[in-house]
Amino acid sequence: MKRRLFLAAGGALAGAGILRASGWAAERLGGDPLADFALTGQLTQGGWARGKAPLGASRLAFNGRAVRLAPDLTFLIAFDRDSGPRGELLAEFAGGGSSRGQFAISPRRWQIEHIPLGPRPGTPPNAEYARRREGELARINAARAQDHAAEGWRQKFIYPVYGRISGRFGAQRIYNGTPGSYHSGMDIATGTSGTPFVAPADGIVALAGENAFSLEGRLLMIDHGMGLGSAFLHCSSHAVKEGDIVRKGQFIGRIGATGRATGPHLHWSLKWRESRLDPLLFVGAMPGA
Ligand SMILES: [Zn+2]
Repeated sequence: MKRRLFLAAGGALAGAGILRASGWAAERLGGDPLADFALTGQLTQGGWARGKAPLGASRLAFNGRAVRLAPDLTFLIAFDRDSGPRGELLAEFAGGGSSRGQFAISPRRWQIEHIPLGPRPGTPPNAEYARRREGELARINAARAQDHAAEGWRQKFIYPVYGRISGRFGAQRIYNGTPGSYHSGMDIATGTSGTPFVAPADGIVALAGENAFSLEGRLLMIDHGMGLGSAFLHCSSHAVKEGDIVRKGQFIGRIGATGRATGPHLHWSLKWRESRLDPLLFVGAMPGA
């Protein structure tokens, strides 16, 4: 049995039971939601989509890789900052057969700054730092590898703190033609250290570093479930510990300038598996901005 194929082009989704991302909201295109995939979200680089697989689906893959289905057949997928332009979902049915859906992932225009000089020379590598960094990265990777049954991925995210967005996700400097690494999160500054921030969605604390990491400073990581995780960098303190269950809106820490930071701010990054995502696409524009 081969179920219907839907195709989409030009950044929009078309087909039965499909929801299309439009601005910060999603627009329903109509049709039978049980006959096909339903998707809602931000179908663009750095964005995400929550969906529901067709009734009877037992396995799902996104661009050739297995994606977990919740018991109610809902799922989460997300699109890296440098994602290609096409997404494909393939659902397989317990009784045989499959259903395939394709959609466009629209490109973004990132904030790029050309610097007519080479990168500023960093400190020469030193063995002690290299050893310390190796341990830090191992801890971060172990936290990322955790896979809790948290349900935050289903929720509408909220800002962890209100303030000035002092750094945008994806922004990149190009030094004399050589691209530097892009900014992996959103920076929010309140002008002071110690401002409390809250969990943007439900989750489990995967890492709460009591000592400052070299670059990240005091780092807090939250697993929102289904491979989606938040990291909060440069904190001055944490209000939760590893393994704690946190609820959306719960006070979890205070802004600081620990690690490599030029001033107090909260760096909030979001990842789905290895894909780096734009927090702005989860929360919308900063209120009052
Ligand atoms: Zn940052």
